[in-house]
Amino acid sequence: MPIKAYGATAADVPLEPMDIQRRAPAAHDVQIAIAYCGVCHSDLHQVRSEWGGTLYPCVPGHEIVGRVTAVGDAVTRFAVGEIVGVGCMVDSCQHCSACAEGLEQFCENGFTGTYNAPTDEQPGHTLGGYTQAIVVDDKFVLKIRHPEDQLAAVAPLLCAGITTYSPLRHWQAGPGKKVGIVGIGGLGHMGVKLAHAMGAHVVAFTTSPHKRDDALTLGADEVVNSRDDAQMQAHAGSFDFILDTVAASHDLDAFTALLKRDGTLTMVGVPEHPHPSPTIGMLVFGRKSIAGSLIGGIAETQEMLDFCAEHGIVADIEMIAIQQIDEAYDRMQRSDVKYRFVIDNATLAA
Ligand code: NAP
Ligand code: ZN
Repeated sequence: MPIKAYGATAADVPLEPMDIQRRAPAAHDVQIAIAYCGVCHSDLHQVRSEWGGTLYPCVPGHEIVGRVTAVGDAVTRFAVGEIVGVGCMVDSCQHCSACAEGLEQFCENGFTGTYNAPTDEQPGHTLGGYTQAIVVDDKFVLKIRHPEDQLAAVAPLLCAGITTYSPLRHWQAGPGKKVGIVGIGGLGHMGVKLAHAMGAHVVAFTTSPHKRDDALTLGADEVVNSRDDAQMQAHAGSFDFILDTVAASHDLDAFTALLKRDGTLTMVGVPEHPHPSPTIGMLVFGRKSIAGSLIGGIAETQEMLDFCAEHGIVADIEMIAIQQIDEAYDRMQRSDVKYRFVIDNATLAA
């Protein structure tokens, strides 16, 4: 049965309606009617081939929530009617040491991305959540324990939530720690909420001074205009950890200067163009680190969803119809989003 989707046929054309096919659920599969799908800056990077290697047609979307409509014979953890989520991965090798440790995002044989990853099925690569339905191996399906009326605002947790939760946990954000979050976009606004809920002293760094009051409401203890040298200087040498979510090339020295001895600046943004080379002396004097982090494993994604349900955390969203997707991309490019666009997938039927 054809399923309605929105996707791009090339890097320089708008997304357009298209029909796609999904496999019939096999023994371990869960078939999901997608209710909502978040719009990640990675979708924009990939649709426009800013990272190179995009496979077309490209149907993006990896912040998926919806309702189970069928399960394979071997599926015991999910039942028809349940609300569930799917994030950035739909499969991995399941036998390498990374998978054995629950770090499927670092699968040594390459995890299968929710979209743009090679597969045996038509059209030869995976297709994401800007569609009416998806079929996913049950190991990559997540339980949603939030109240059902929050479902749209839960969708962004599947990527923006886990991508900030995982490094905050890994670098032990918590009471007594001073944590910076750079860029108050989809990822960054979740980073502020999560670091605050973990008990850290949170400083939000923004290039958009008008986001100041919002950042305080999201849970920041302080807000810094990262383009104001005096405001930056006031925090020199004071951070245990800084999480940088910026989607564009920028100067990293401005942030390594703010780290304490042994502090870490962790990058999660993956801009189209490289950052200017950081000054190594800034790291040497203070034994500081620049690190990277990629989403999070499936078990940790479930832990994050449960943490958010327990603490009443969801994303701040602006709902859009699928027909507004190109306008949403343009606004995201201009940092004009508060703070995540979420597609109402019912509008695919329009
Ligand atoms: P987003 O919603 O567009 O937010 C990015 C924020 O960065 C903007 O809102 C803006 O915040 C700031 N910013 C934008 N341009 C800037 C510039 N030129 N200089 C300084 N700051 C700038 O994007 P997102 O969805 O959060 O994604 C952020 C990045 O993370 C993307 O590159 C995405 O591909 C990547 N990502 C990585 C992973 C991973 O696993 N590592 C997962 C998902 C996404 P202010 O207005 O506050 O300055
Ligand atoms: Zn994403």
